[in-house]
Amino acid sequence: MAQHFLLSSRARTISLAAVFGLTEAEAEVTFRRIRWASTGGDPLCPGCSSPDAYDCRRSNRAPRFRCRCCQKDFSITSGTIFASLKLPLRVYLAVIAIFCNEHKGKSMLAMSRDLGLSYKTAFVLCHKVREAMAAGMRGCLMGGEGKTVEIDGAYFGGYLKPANGPAAACDPYSRPELM
Ligand SMILES: [Zn+2]
Repeated sequence: MAQHFLLSSRARTISLAAVFGLTEAEAEVTFRRIRWASTGGDPLCPGCSSPDAYDCRRSNRAPRFRCRCCQKDFSITSGTIFASLKLPLRVYLAVIAIFCNEHKGKSMLAMSRDLGLSYKTAFVLCHKVREAMAAGMRGCLMGGEGKTVEIDGAYFGGYLKPANGPAAACDPYSRPELM
């Protein structure tokens, strides 16, 4: 019997263990390879999409690039959901790894404790990841003509608030949970 995709190594593209083992320089290479996958990690200008950019680091060695076409500077996160945030790249990779691997959802309080972030920062980062995922799926149809979509786990429903008041207490038909 063929191995399920989720059990295969192809389904484990990024793990928390791997992220924590990265140095900041290795995290930079990993982030670049993910962000600019089409060029193998070589920067593309977010302004004019030119691949003609060179490394022009800040004085604190933070990565920055300069486009030869439009002369604009851009960072490794410019034009992404993490633009204008000042956290180490490892934190962004860790947020993505935790968010994607916790398929039942992740408590933001737990995320903030795991990564040493404030609750608000964890909340904002995860909302940005959700936004990016939704943008990537916008307009997509699952399956297609003659195709079958399979779901191996789902959580539906919620709490149905019972009817309130003296009449509701006497009438069992108004309280479906008692039937
Ligand atoms: Zn440019």
